Amino acid sequence: MKFHDSNLSIDDFGKMGLAPGLLAALEKVGLIKPTPIQSETIPVALQGLDLIGVAQTGSGKTLAYGLSLMTILSQKPEGRALILLPSRETAEQVHRVLVPFCTDMSLSLCLAVAGIPNAIQTKQLKKNPRIIVATPGRLEEHLKNNKLMLKGLSILVLDEADRMLSMGFEPQLTFMQSTLRGPRQNLLFAATFGSWAEPMAEMFMSNQEATLIRSKAAETPVATLEQKVFFLTVTQKQNRLLDELKRMKEGVILFADSQESCVSLGRLLEHHNFSSDFMHGDMNPGHRNR
Ligand code: AMP
Repeated sequence: MKFHDSNLSIDDFGKMGLAPGLLAALEKVGLIKPTPIQSETIPVALQGLDLIGVAQTGSGKTLAYGLSLMTILSQKPEGRALILLPSRETAEQVHRVLVPFCTDMSLSLCLAVAGIPNAIQTKQLKKNPRIIVATPGRLEEHLKNNKLMLKGLSILVLDEADRMLSMGFEPQLTFMQSTLRGPRQNLLFAATFGSWAEPMAEMFMSNQEATLIRSKAAETPVATLEQKVFFLTVTQKQNRLLDELKRMKEGVILFADSQESCVSLGRLLEHHNFSSDFMHGDMNPGHRNR
C-alpha cells in the first residue's frame, strides 16, 4: 500500500479533469468547491489507480467516487461500474445522489436491492446498465441467474467496506469476485481504517498497489455534529435516555446493537408515549419504507 501525497490534491473541480458535463451538473446543484476527500481522491481515481479512501459519511465520499467513475465511463464507452453498499437504505441514498448526474451525462444507472420486484430489476440488468448500485445479497441472487451480468466491469466501488465484512457479507463478496474477469479499477471506502482493509485489498486488488488516502478532515465527524458520551448502568440508562429525549425538540434516530434491543427500545418509547417506530433488517421492505 502506498500513502497518498496530500500535495497532489486539487482544490478546484474545474482543474481535476472531470467531464465538462459534470462541471455543469455540479454548478446546477450548487456544489462549488470540492470537499477534502474529493480533492484528494478524484485526481488519484482519474489516473485509473486503485485506492482505499477513509472518510466519514457526510464528507462527500459518494461524489468523490461518483464523479470519478462517471468521468472515466464518459471517456470509455464500453466501460461499466458497480457500486456495492452493505444496506438497502445506503444503496438507495447513493442511487439518489447519482441520478441527476447520470441523467445529465446520459449514463444508464440501475439500483439492485431488495424491495424492488425481481422481474423489473432483471429486465433493467439485462440491458447492461453502465452503473449498477447494489447490495451484496441481491447482487448474488442476480449473479446466480446470470453469471455474465458483470461482464465488462471496469470499475468496482466497495463503499462502507468495513461494514461489509462486519455484517458478514464475505461469502457474497467472494462469489461476486469469482465471476469477475479482466482488468479493473478498485475503489474501497470506509469510515475508519482497520483490520478490514487487508482481507478486502487481498480479495479485490490482486497485485496492483493501492493508494491509501486518509485525511484528518474526512475522518473527523462533520463540524455541525455535537457528540456526548454517558457512562451509566443499565438501569440508569433507560431513565437518562427518556430524559434526554424529552429535552429534544427535533426528530431523533436511536441505534441499537441488535434486533432484540431495537424492538425493546421501540416498545419502551411507545410505552412512554413518544411518537416513534423502529426498523431492523428482518422486517419486510414495505414496513421499512414506511
Ligand atoms: P456523503 O454521504 O459522504 O457522500 O456526503 C453527502 C453530503 O455531502 C450530501 O449532503 C452532499 O450534497 C454533500 N456534498 C457532497 N459534495 C459536496 C461539496 N463539494 N460541497 C458541499 N457539499 C457536498
